[in-house]
Amino acid sequence: MRIARFSIDGNVAFGAVEGSGSSPGELVLDIIKGIPFSDFELSGTKVPLSKVRLLPPVLPNKVVAYGRNYAEHARELGNEVPDAPFAFFKPSTSVIGHGDEIQYPSFSQDLHHEAELAVVIGRMCREVPRERVKDVILGYTCANDITARDVQRREKQWARAKGFDTSCPLGPWVETELDPSDLTIQLTVNGQQRQLGRTSEMIHPIEDLIVHISEAMTLLPGDVILTGTPAGVGPLTVGDEVAVTIEGIGTLTNKVVKRG
Ligand code: MG
Repeated sequence: MRIARFSIDGNVAFGAVEGSGSSPGELVLDIIKGIPFSDFELSGTKVPLSKVRLLPPVLPNKVVAYGRNYAEHARELGNEVPDAPFAFFKPSTSVIGHGDEIQYPSFSQDLHHEAELAVVIGRMCREVPRERVKDVILGYTCANDITARDVQRREKQWARAKGFDTSCPLGPWVETELDPSDLTIQLTVNGQQRQLGRTSEMIHPIEDLIVHISEAMTLLPGDVILTGTPAGVGPLTVGDEVAVTIEGIGTLTNKVVKRG
């Protein structure tokens, strides 16, 4: 099931995306009674996707992002491939949805895109054993780990470089029935392909990442884990339209604007 979060006439709701096309005109939302993190049912009340505004599919308490989880990407930036996974945070205020604007921050001159598969946590959990990881996952969505590369190089901690407002586009929805182990992940800028990889190229697979982070902290429903980016990262400029497409999920599109 594809679960979207959206607003219509000032109300916010979750809905199941129905229809087989990829353009909003071909899709409808069956409004969900309740929330997707517990038992819920479909109301049977349907609205065309073209009539709503999509919101970030979840409001995470925290976004935990993994770095250098694809060998080719680690090397393209001149970094060693790390032995163990390493994580950093993107704050909840960095999250935006499909169609929202990425605001180019005033303190950077080198904004980069990073297409990533995002894991959405479905239930509160801690110290998750490897064999239980699938039980704590609600589903998967597309993410763009927008990075001020010059600031990342300059500052020891990445809080500003990767945590500024609008630096975490997520969407367009959460796909709950998906084997994430070998999916095509690609990114285009103004229709031109920049990144292409497969999730099977991850150095540390999703199970390892959830074990690793839940060893340290409680994960809450709606929390998001970013799993790293394949090779091909590069600059964005004001006016660009950047799109992340992951096989079996869909396309997350955002435009870059100057911060007003
Ligand atoms: Mg990243």
